[in-house]
Amino acid sequence: MKRLLVVEDEYAIRDLLTLNLTKVGYMVEAVESAERALEIIINDPDRFDVAILDIMLPGISGFELCERIRRKNQVIGIIMLTARTMEPDKVRALAIGADDYVTKPFSLNELIARVDAVYRRTLVGPPRQSEAKELICGNFVLDLSSRLLKKNDQPLDLTQVEFQIMELFFKNQGVALDRETIMGKVWGTSYYGDVKIVDVNIRRLRMKVEDDPSNPVNIVTVWGYGYRWTT
Ligand code: CA
Repeated sequence: MKRLLVVEDEYAIRDLLTLNLTKVGYMVEAVESAERALEIIINDPDRFDVAILDIMLPGISGFELCERIRRKNQVIGIIMLTARTMEPDKVRALAIGADDYVTKPFSLNELIARVDAVYRRTLVGPPRQSEAKELICGNFVLDLSSRLLKKNDQPLDLTQVEFQIMELFFKNQGVALDRETIMGKVWGTSYYGDVKIVDVNIRRLRMKVEDDPSNPVNIVTVWGYGYRWTT
């Protein structure tokens, strides 16, 4: 069952999303406020696989809702709906733990494609028997079965996207990876977005991984190209 939460105060959009995402196989619960969404999530944090959150809501904003959902659930896929004119909103949305954003007015097909992509990433099967369950780099251990990254034995809180980026790094130690490759491997080759999404996630990862995020020594920038993981 693919369970989807929609939080949107505009009735017409709420209705449009409910109708069309139900058609493509989601079980949709749509609410008009962050307050209502929180009531549901607090009682049942794992109820949804994906959430679509409008930013401009009466009362608690979509941003705050996103942060509060993330604190309860690191696995849920979160897509924010932003207004086209509000460019900084996109960066902020990703910085606080959203997986993707869609600008209003949106094309329904694009939105559905993105919901599907985010949903697929939440489906994390157990690793195959032949695969190593732990990857070790210096004082970092990436545990593929529990989906945890540990630094000096301390677990770091990563979103699924961040975990996937780290997995890619661990499997390519010392290799310069360009942004397009990272985007293709993590977001999928059919992803519509801008490669800037990679930079935003790297910035967030550095905050979690590096001793001094402003002087990164593990996730190194390769100028004009991408990033390299070293320990
Ligand atoms: Ca709104």
